[in-house]
Amino acid sequence: MGEEIIKEEKILKGIPASPGIAMGQAFLMEMEEPTVPRRQISDEDLPNEIARLEDALIQTRKEILEIQKKIAEEMSYEHAEIFNAHLLLLEDKMFLEEVISRLRKEKFIVEYILVDVIKKYIKVFSKMDDEYLRDRISDIDDVGKRILRHLIGQQRQDLSKLKEKVIVVAYNLSPSDTALMHKENVLGFVTDIGGRTSHTAIMAKSLEIPAVVGLEKVSRLVKKGDYLIVNGNDGSVIINPREETIKKYQEELLKFEEFIHRLEGLKELPAETLDGYRVKIAANIESPQEIPSVIAHGAFGIGLYRTEYFYMNRKDLPSEEEQFEAYRRVAIQMAPHPVTIRTLDLGGDKFISQLDIPYEINPFMGWRAIRFCLARPDIFKAQLSAILRASVEGKLRLMYPLISGIEELKQANRILEEVKEELRQKNIRFDEDIEVGAMIEVPSAAVTSDILAKEVDFFSIGTNDLIQYALAVDRVNEKIAYLYEPAHPAVLRIIKNIIDSAHEAGIWVGMCGEMAGEVLFTPLLLGMGLDEFSVSAVNIPEVKQVIRSITITQAKEITRQCLSFSTSEEILEFLRLKLKEIVPEIIV
Ligand code: PEP
Ligand code: MG
Repeated sequence: MGEEIIKEEKILKGIPASPGIAMGQAFLMEMEEPTVPRRQISDEDLPNEIARLEDALIQTRKEILEIQKKIAEEMSYEHAEIFNAHLLLLEDKMFLEEVISRLRKEKFIVEYILVDVIKKYIKVFSKMDDEYLRDRISDIDDVGKRILRHLIGQQRQDLSKLKEKVIVVAYNLSPSDTALMHKENVLGFVTDIGGRTSHTAIMAKSLEIPAVVGLEKVSRLVKKGDYLIVNGNDGSVIINPREETIKKYQEELLKFEEFIHRLEGLKELPAETLDGYRVKIAANIESPQEIPSVIAHGAFGIGLYRTEYFYMNRKDLPSEEEQFEAYRRVAIQMAPHPVTIRTLDLGGDKFISQLDIPYEINPFMGWRAIRFCLARPDIFKAQLSAILRASVEGKLRLMYPLISGIEELKQANRILEEVKEELRQKNIRFDEDIEVGAMIEVPSAAVTSDILAKEVDFFSIGTNDLIQYALAVDRVNEKIAYLYEPAHPAVLRIIKNIIDSAHEAGIWVGMCGEMAGEVLFTPLLLGMGLDEFSVSAVNIPEVKQVIRSITITQAKEITRQCLSFSTSEEILEFLRLKLKEIVPEIIV
């Protein structure tokens, strides 16, 4: 019998990304090794196998150079130099010659030969007396795995294939990784990097998976077999908790579930203040699969359908027909309530491999969203046409992301008119009165919202981006997350200006950024005159509860006071105080 190792409890603090409490075994990303079959090839296959190897080597080199650049920027050149050993191995003539000559001689698929050669290298190096050379084993192993992953086209572990219920631990997860998760086997996840409004965090909320991001070193601290508690409500993560800690969290979990259960009673009730002022609460979705949950939480409609997930985790682009089918289904399922389809918002932190979007130093400020669509009218028009055709099946609206000025908005509208005309020519029906909106998420659009309001039927304020651009704070960077402050007086003034401009022009205005779902801001936004709150399904009951516990006069007074403060600290303190007065039992 082996000795029992008593593991020490460790508490880490990160950024709460998705509410709820999860407890379970850790699953470390990147741990699993791909399996390679021993498959024979023919002489004709040889050139192709060599070409595949060359391509994988080029990709691996590119990947290592990117990592090196990142490490040099974030840590130091000395740290980045560690990767020189990796690059040297990639260029090592002996190594390459051995793989290619064995390939010609033995005629097995190139991944099989590669794994075997790497194993041999590791064996030879492990017998060396020189400590420095022995230490190179991990470099060889790492490079070997990277080449292999490129060869078999496996970039990351596929989280949809997890067999057990686990808590995923990773340095980072891309929104497309997260999109593959299922609630049944991913109990929660934790990452070293990321911010509260990163699309990875937003996706976790949609999937109702508790998550904490920005933990800085969790992926290095957690070991295989560790037990974790993830508290997505306050951002703490406990590694190997003691018995009494587990008990405490089990009680906490019960309390949280009771709280959620109590809120379910609000489902059928309107979002109406105590003095009869009504607003709308809609839901944000990333995929049509969320609709049952949206309906279960009592949403009035969908205020933001992020269509870009449609384009992810697949090899080709979705056809117009495929999109039409999906939008049609969503329209039917939600009818008579409206569904706001946002046109493709790729770029920023959302990428897809099938479109060759070049690497950019500053992707959030780069070729993304409407900028990309205007440059690729083929892709844009297919989507617009699919939305228009589906619009006869229910109540659809469409909106453009990242509008920065009037020219861009007019150009998008011109393309929309062209698509409408083409449909009319073909006698294809669509809703001639479909509402068209602009997302206001760039400060230039916010400042000129009075001008933009003349060209659209509604605005939707995208605070996730608006805040990052207004405050110059990258929304996915955990190091500066403390500066990402929705309660910044500048942010409040900008939002107020957008709402006022919309109302002066006679159009309605919604908000679909994460701020709309934070109950602390509900009285303030209500008092500013926001017409529609579009939030993650899980946030609907709480937001509704706050609205139903206040009068519009009270809300307006709260707004007036908030706008008179000069620091976010004062604003937050005041809002916390007010919220406790209005809904004492709320958990924030
Ligand atoms: C926003 O920016 O607030 C928004 C809703 O869009 P996204 O989060 O998809 O960028
Ligand atoms: Mg946005």
